Amino acid sequence: MAKTTVVRTAAKAKALVGAKARTIAKTEPVSAKKKAGTTRNPLAPERIEAILDALRQTYPGVVCALNHENAWELTVATILSAQCTDVRVNLVTPALFKAFPTPKAMAVASLPELEELIRTTGFFRNKAKSIQGAGRVVTETFSGKVPQTMEEILTLPGVARKTGNVVLGSWFGIAVGVVVDTHVMRLSKRLELTKETSPEKVERDLMKILPQDRWIAFSHELIHHGRQVCIARKPRCADCTLERLCNSADKTWSSH
Ligand code: SF4
Repeated sequence: MAKTTVVRTAAKAKALVGAKARTIAKTEPVSAKKKAGTTRNPLAPERIEAILDALRQTYPGVVCALNHENAWELTVATILSAQCTDVRVNLVTPALFKAFPTPKAMAVASLPELEELIRTTGFFRNKAKSIQGAGRVVTETFSGKVPQTMEEILTLPGVARKTGNVVLGSWFGIAVGVVVDTHVMRLSKRLELTKETSPEKVERDLMKILPQDRWIAFSHELIHHGRQVCIARKPRCADCTLERLCNSADKTWSSH
């Protein structure tokens, strides 16, 4: 099932969040004379709320970009997405799931066959071992069902906290943490939501400042924002609905 993402136009979303963002911006050091990259109180609850509002209105109903039909497929797709784009993963998974549709089938697949099917996702030897091993553990320990606790899901080979959060959050709707990928790391720093550099510590900071019922959607929204607008090398600040709330030193354009 290919899931689609509804994204409002930047202009429409900007108009929706503009008034609130302007109010927050008035209280912040937004003058060009102020040092870029600093906001007086970046974790002020009203600023966090305005950021969450802007993201929600810009990316309503946003979902995981990895195509999947069930928890097992999402687990495999997320393992394959390490150091690889979701687009590339979505290109290889149809043939992979057709050849090995269940954890049990994946568990007894030959490694060379798996490697060949996932070669283009990079690090294919390690990933083949991981998905084969994950199939074995799901089959033997969890009766063929992907477990629904972080503690258990972390026992699958190739599954770290990020994959656990993706599967528990996106498939089961269980918010035990915040998915921190490269986009969430980068944007959380640009928005001054954290000063940390390790995914574990960034996640801990985000869990402290975000309401739990926004943990799942926030990651999806930030990942889409990082791909479409707040691009690593040249962020499209003139099109950004968070622009008035952002004092990042990386900004390419500023209205304040
Ligand atoms: S204003 Fe620019 S740097 Fe700030 S979040 Fe938007 S795109 Fe990123």
